[in-house]
Amino acid sequence: MSKGRFGKYGGQYVPEIVMPVLTELEAAYEKYKEDPDFIAELNKYYTQYAGRPTLLYYAEQLTKHYGGAKIYLKREDLLHTGAHKINNALGQVLLAKRMGKKRIIAETGAGQHGVATATVAALFGMECHVFMGAVDIERQKLNVFKMKLLGTKVIPVTTGTATLKDATSEAIRYWAAHIDDTHYIIGSAVGPHPYPTMVRDFQACIGREIRQQLKKETGGRLDYLIACVGGGSNAIGTFHDWRNDTQVKKFGVEAAGRGPAAGDNAQTLSNPASRPGVLHGAYSYLAQDDDGQVIEVYSISAGLDYPGVGPEHAMFHEQGVVKYVGIDDKEALDAFQLLSRLEGIIPAVESSHALAYLEKLMPQTTPDQVVVVTLSGRGDKDVQQVAKVLGEEIE
Ligand SMILES: *Cc1c(COP(=O)(O)O)cnc(C)c1O
Repeated sequence: MSKGRFGKYGGQYVPEIVMPVLTELEAAYEKYKEDPDFIAELNKYYTQYAGRPTLLYYAEQLTKHYGGAKIYLKREDLLHTGAHKINNALGQVLLAKRMGKKRIIAETGAGQHGVATATVAALFGMECHVFMGAVDIERQKLNVFKMKLLGTKVIPVTTGTATLKDATSEAIRYWAAHIDDTHYIIGSAVGPHPYPTMVRDFQACIGREIRQQLKKETGGRLDYLIACVGGGSNAIGTFHDWRNDTQVKKFGVEAAGRGPAAGDNAQTLSNPASRPGVLHGAYSYLAQDDDGQVIEVYSISAGLDYPGVGPEHAMFHEQGVVKYVGIDDKEALDAFQLLSRLEGIIPAVESSHALAYLEKLMPQTTPDQVVVVTLSGRGDKDVQQVAKVLGEEIE
């Protein structure tokens, strides 16, 4: 496999001015990923700050409800800041510190990655700028306030549609002008090499812990693995350690939104109309029109509302290593309520997409089998929005 490629996907499609800093980052990552001090420090923060290893919880009530395979939940929702994003943010901030960088930048749409980045920047006393579309700032006031509390400067982006893709362009522009002292924390397994590999490695603890924990629970048996896919970081972190276990069927669940028409969903791999192209520095699948222009995508869940997908998923899709499927808004909302009622766990709407796939999978399973669903985050952030959709007044 050539450098930074997953089959024909991945690569580095960036302006010339950014190349030196990618090369520097790649060299630093190659050096520190094997460095015992770096690994020990990262593990210290994983356990003492973030809350790793996360629980692997046997969902007995949910299992009874379906009457098939035993269902386990990988509880990334119990991590500090409420989702798996902290795994990657901690890894990258430690790397930035080793590289002697003084400042962290990031882009954010819904604000979740911005908050995770602001959190680790506060922890390590680094200056932090988060680029955010002016429209998103208006929509995500709570997360904007959290970032400010954490000492981060939120920079409004008013160009284009004033949303995530414009914020990304602005962050790249800023990075190019401040490459000496600035590290750019990308929040998912996307972007130019080395990001997809690096982010995957920082999230791969999810799948490794599942393997370790299943030994005690099921003697190591696993039949099905399910995770939701936005950019694909919690899913690649879940699947990676299991990629060669062909007896384990893996499902990546994308947002089917309000229907199959272009612009009504965020399916980049499970939509028959989707094709490969270049977005945010990498060659992968993306939602585009007939002229190859990236289209706006839609999902009830802000974290899945991304027009691209990580290049390793594009390869897994083509090789059939993972099956990519769609779950729509309504199915996700039903799963959100079902888990809350049966298990006393309110899941993130993103994670609810993964849970909703159980409706389709469970009838084909038998009680001797085992399924693990990665619960990427908790639903506190979504309760207000769900109340509104369900017609409840909680203001
Ligand atoms: C951001 C987010 C996602 C989607 O991002 P991936 O990179 O695809 O994992 C999923 N779940 C939660 C809770 C999130 O915050």
